[in-house]
Amino acid sequence: MLYPTINNFIGGNFLASGNPRFLNVISPVDGRELSKVPMSSKKELDAAVAAANQAFASWSKTPIKERVQVFYKYKFLLEKNLESLAQLVHEENGKTIGEATAEIEKCIELTEFACSLPQLITGEILEVSKGVECRTEHVPLGVVASIVPFNFPSMVPNWTIPNAIALGNCMILKPSEKVPLSAGKIAELLKEAGLPDGVFNVVHGDVEMVEAICDHPGIEAVSFVGSTKVAKIVYLRSTQNFKRCLALGGAKNHLMVMPDAIPGMTAQNVSASMSGCAGQRCMAASAMVAVGEVDHIIKKIVEEAKKIVPGQNLGPVINKESQQRIEKYITEAEEQGATILLDGRGITVNGKEGGTYIGPTVIDHVKPDMNIAKEEVFGPVISITRANTVDEALAIENASPYGNAASVFTQNGGVARYIIDRASAGMIGVNVGVPVPREPFSFGGWNESKFGVGDITGKSSIEFWTKLKKSTIKWNPEAGVNWMS
Ligand code: NAD
Repeated sequence: MLYPTINNFIGGNFLASGNPRFLNVISPVDGRELSKVPMSSKKELDAAVAAANQAFASWSKTPIKERVQVFYKYKFLLEKNLESLAQLVHEENGKTIGEATAEIEKCIELTEFACSLPQLITGEILEVSKGVECRTEHVPLGVVASIVPFNFPSMVPNWTIPNAIALGNCMILKPSEKVPLSAGKIAELLKEAGLPDGVFNVVHGDVEMVEAICDHPGIEAVSFVGSTKVAKIVYLRSTQNFKRCLALGGAKNHLMVMPDAIPGMTAQNVSASMSGCAGQRCMAASAMVAVGEVDHIIKKIVEEAKKIVPGQNLGPVINKESQQRIEKYITEAEEQGATILLDGRGITVNGKEGGTYIGPTVIDHVKPDMNIAKEEVFGPVISITRANTVDEALAIENASPYGNAASVFTQNGGVARYIIDRASAGMIGVNVGVPVPREPFSFGGWNESKFGVGDITGKSSIEFWTKLKKSTIKWNPEAGVNWMS
């Protein structure tokens, strides 16, 4: 084992789990065992909630301008430890060092946003009747939980940690059991930055721990990021327990390519979008709709995709099951008559034989009713469906139950606007393959890509992580009596 057995982080201390059930943490890069992660007990969750609840009393009363000082320091520590944090993400998730470095840089940007919260959270005040003023304040919720997926071991936790905590909440993080190592490093850095004990806690586990979080009476709100299947379970279970919940799910993002698109730039963007992080991004373009005559662009996409080499500038997918599932999608599409232009099945990387790699795969003439066109593949695979008109392309995009992102590649502003207005997705790109809004703009999809109101990052997250207090105040009886005063 490369690292010691993983501990929970409760009340500012790393504590060994008392539960006998552990899972092996395997690096998808080469199949070596990195560590063991505990499947913690409900008692351990109780201890974390109790520690968070105790910390909440003083943390919630600390002025926000003081609270964000911790995040200025945390940002500095992220910068200082960028290399080691990226290395850990690379080892446990498999993405390349370059991609892992970009992930930590994004954590820095998210933390910068949290540092700006005092500027954004000011309430409103107005004299509403003679001598009577109304004012609003954003008040923290209490103990909140963040349940996260495997594909961004550091970034997705940092979608929620800085904002929720700077806004005065205390948090329990439940990392993905597939990539549990980065969370410990985050806890270490937050402590070093001066975060009081108990404000941030990490409890490891899998399904049972997620269910215990949804049911726990001491947790006020649950944010979840993961697959749609589990997002639905978490949303239903936690709201049934009268908690606030925002649950982000899976995706099937359509990329509509028009005949007037700039071939080189389009090809480069399409292949980067489908293969970045081995296609394991909820913003990856996995379905391209080729509108009209775009064979010359498809040819260039294949040329670009050929430059992506497993084990060099392409990381593995997370595990063997994922590898087999993705290969099955490709084989099924082939059997149903699609044309494989570039085939990434059956890849082994020399010296990393235990790794779970899939090469970049481009599949043409995919029909809209094939599974590969409808379902989330989550691998470096793009399926191309042909359409004759923009409306036909939009009909394909609109038919998807998901709604995370959609992009159009064109030089025609009118066509771009037409698609922005009609695509059924929360995040739209124009000549951008991965249309992630950067801070202060918020991140969140539509339809079955998100359950709950509002977005998870940016200004929108303020509404999720706080409740509004409205005060109606009269200090001057001499002002006399007016309507409702
Ligand atoms: P997942 O749904 O399998 O797991 C997410 C979390 O839920 C993990 O912490 C896991 O322990 C827990 N979990 C798994 N099965 C559960 C169950 N049956 N009941 C309760 N909890 C359960 O997701 P994943 O495979 O880790 O991540 C990939 C998925 O996440 C993809 O679908 C991807 O699109 C999605 N994702 C979405 C976004 C977004 O912003 N919409 C961002 C990142 C990832």
